[in-house]
Amino acid sequence: MANSIESGWIAQAQPYRSFPALTGNVTTDWLIIGGGFTGLSAARELAARCPGERIMLIDAKRIAQGAAARNSGFNVGYDVPDFTRETAAANMAEYLARTRIDIAGATENERLIRDLGISCDYLPTGYFYAVHDPARFAGAAALADVLRDAGAEAQVLEGDAVPARFGTGFYRRALFIGGGGNGSLQPAKFSKGLVDNMPAPVELHEDTPALGLSPASGGGAVVTIPGGQIRAKKVILALNGLLPRFGYKRFRMVPLTLTASLTRPLTAEEDEAIGRPEPWAVLCPIKGGTTARLTQDRRILIRNTAEYRPAGVDAAGVAVRRQTHLLGLRRRFPSMTEADIEFSWAGTMAGSRGYRFIFEQASPDVFLTACCNGNGVARLSMLGRLLVQYATGDQNELLTTTLSLAQPGLLPPDPFLRIGVAARFALDRRKVADEV
Ligand SMILES: Cc1cc2nc3c(=O)[nH]c(=O)nc-3n(C[C@H](O)[C@H](O)[C@H](O)COP(=O)(O)OP(=O)(O)OC[C@H]3O[C@@H](n4cnc5c(N)ncnc54)[C@H](O)[C@@H]3O)c2cc1C
Repeated sequence: MANSIESGWIAQAQPYRSFPALTGNVTTDWLIIGGGFTGLSAARELAARCPGERIMLIDAKRIAQGAAARNSGFNVGYDVPDFTRETAAANMAEYLARTRIDIAGATENERLIRDLGISCDYLPTGYFYAVHDPARFAGAAALADVLRDAGAEAQVLEGDAVPARFGTGFYRRALFIGGGGNGSLQPAKFSKGLVDNMPAPVELHEDTPALGLSPASGGGAVVTIPGGQIRAKKVILALNGLLPRFGYKRFRMVPLTLTASLTRPLTAEEDEAIGRPEPWAVLCPIKGGTTARLTQDRRILIRNTAEYRPAGVDAAGVAVRRQTHLLGLRRRFPSMTEADIEFSWAGTMAGSRGYRFIFEQASPDVFLTACCNGNGVARLSMLGRLLVQYATGDQNELLTTTLSLAQPGLLPPDPFLRIGVAARFALDRRKVADEV
């Protein structure tokens, strides 16, 4: 099979239901713009909190086929701290606060998978941080201590246990992190399951780009769409890295484009040769390193590019980046060739300074959230729910925590941002070259 430039997850989650585009002039109580994890969780929460009110969700393209179906499928409650026990005093409180949100999101995802019966290859078995050069992860044991202090399960793997666990000699030191909902899933099947189980009052519309947003006279907002407009009492913006296109948060977030590849399933003989390891999900503790998975259906996922490209990457660009994926794949599984890669694709996410996220009432009737910093499956699912709680006047402890973390630091304008991010990523990649 030729290499396909589409998300391998989406290809395997087919068929998708389709939803009609919206045209003409309509009015609604609630309008959610963007049908990823943020928008879908906001819609579910609104349906529960506001019975009898009109709730509409529009997406410029297909619902649940943006980053929601293009990510690496890590559902993360316990992220890895970027500090040690020695510096924990200054950092632990914020890490724990953020982790409370992530755990709430990851465990709620688990609950939905279970209660709604979403079949998405979910494995509640934690994930790993792993490296090729053990010297680069000399702090693994200290990190495990910090994680255990925070309530996670954490265990360092060394020596023969590492290749035995992963079925490749590439990794030589690893840290297992479990608990708090940590696990992995097939992201397209999961997000499609959320759509398939969306409570009936939510009206879903695809191929309906919001073109502009302005305050309505007498309250609410008017959103322009092709051939019409939507007048909404309240608007929720769930736009991921495209939020700045609406004029919000241009200097608080960095839209990033990531690319990934997925191989064909290993043959029974290949699986036997690597010792039939249990599925695994691995992140790199060093910035710029590779994300890899051995999935339940015995495919290898490799994600090892990230760059500042607000316009995304086209098919030719994905094909170029596939060579970097191939490099990472062959380092782990040398017998693999480019022909073994079935799918390669690109997706977007948003980063910010200091792992902080965007979460605010931007004007009396417009609410927005964004910036997962790599943990959108759990964090943005929770932030979407919390944003609805905020917009409906709820008050609770997690919301207070969320608001306290909701102001990322300022970033410079382009071209300084573009040059700065490119230089930083290039430096990271040089430092981490043998981990790719
Ligand atoms: C390759 C890759 C790997 C990743 N791996 C992980 C991982 O393993 N774990 C993890 O937690 N996170 C991961 N992430 C991040 C995570 O996928 C994202 O943070 C998350 O999916 C973003 O959710 P969202 O709802 O904000 O955005 P999206 O899912 O992108 O949804 C936003 C939606 O808004 C729509 N939209 C945009 N503009 C308009 C408009 N004008 N009008 C209407 N609709 C519009 C888009 O079409 C899109 O469907 C990864 C991301 C990528 C790209």
